[in-house]
Amino acid sequence: MSAKAYTRIGKFSISDVLDHVPPFTAKLIGSVVKEYLGKLVNMESHRYYCFLRSGIACVSCGLKASFFGLETHKKQKTENFHFNLYGINEAGEEILFTKDHIIAKKNGGKNHPVNYQTMCEECNRNKGHSRHVRLEKLPNSIKIWIDGELDSEVPDNKIDIEVLKNILNSLGHWVHT
Ligand SMILES: [Zn+2]
Repeated sequence: MSAKAYTRIGKFSISDVLDHVPPFTAKLIGSVVKEYLGKLVNMESHRYYCFLRSGIACVSCGLKASFFGLETHKKQKTENFHFNLYGINEAGEEILFTKDHIIAKKNGGKNHPVNYQTMCEECNRNKGHSRHVRLEKLPNSIKIWIDGELDSEVPDNKIDIEVLKNILNSLGHWVHT
């Protein structure tokens, strides 16, 4: 989904949005809304939990996000205003930031903040379907866990998806649906 697919009515700082996201609960309450520019915005988006947990820089290229756009899909008939996160690349273009699944859903990865990482749209598009995840691309919180769970060093800083899944599962943070 490129930025052109959205209609934007305002720009907000990172803290204007993320400071108002309620604590994560596995079952979203669905009623935590906040008014921005006269529009009621759902503050419980899994994307916001991703950005809170993994940070606002792309884990792959390091581009840092700089603002949120309050936007709605052009194609949707009903307005559904939400915040999209953007950074500006070296060419001065706006780059949309996405919530990426560290372990892809088709490999058993769950919809839970522990399995999310912040990635810009360009890197997300170029992401391969490797069986390995590079350690340096994981959020720090997960790296610390992995250090604690593995006895030996990780060869080439690459961790097998199955090993990573076992570690994340042992932490009991998965949402089993
Ligand atoms: Zn990137």
